Amino acid sequence: MYSKTIRLHSQTGKTLLDYITLKMRLTGVKPMITMKDIIRDGHPTLRKVAKEVPLPPSKEDIETGKLLMEYVQNSQNEEIAARYGLRPGVGLAAPQINVSKRIIAVHFEDYSGKTYSHILFNPKIISHSVEKAYLVSGEGCLSVDEDIPGYVPRYARITVEAYDEEGKKLRLRLKEYAAIVFQHEIDHLNGILFYDHIDKENPFKPIDNAIPVGQ
Ligand SMILES: [Zn+2]
Repeated sequence: MYSKTIRLHSQTGKTLLDYITLKMRLTGVKPMITMKDIIRDGHPTLRKVAKEVPLPPSKEDIETGKLLMEYVQNSQNEEIAARYGLRPGVGLAAPQINVSKRIIAVHFEDYSGKTYSHILFNPKIISHSVEKAYLVSGEGCLSVDEDIPGYVPRYARITVEAYDEEGKKLRLRLKEYAAIVFQHEIDHLNGILFYDHIDKENPFKPIDNAIPVGQ
């Protein structure tokens, strides 16, 4: 059957980028990521420390970043998300599509309406507050199918250093919701999942010196 969209099958041996290159050469149609390409909890890549990307980023690494961003943006478009069965997300990290490299994409608005839209290479938290913050509703992850309730303690404010696709160094100062999203994504580069931070005995134990975010 004719399909405008080519689904990728990243778990079948070749790398995702091999597929993209091949499909584009054969069909001229740019592929997109769907939930099939997102690996789930239990897959070993999610627990690996991802590799730094050589700078400036290669064409291939830039393409990976763009695919991640495209998924996040598509997933927030109701019509596209419904058509392709995309779970909505605000960020995605390369290890989640089985590419163990330090690349993330985020696209969201914070509670004050400020937009954050970044493809970042080798992002690193270079400083953080002592004060913590947590999402009152808990966190979710495209790689974790079940809902795991509980407070996830994060730093309330962080400074992230990262590189853009031209290899230019960026410094982002982030607080509360934005800081939480970036910490979730950067954790993926270190093999950490959000529920690792939840208190197993008492998931809703109040967190000392922490700002509740959202409702
Ligand atoms: Zn996640």
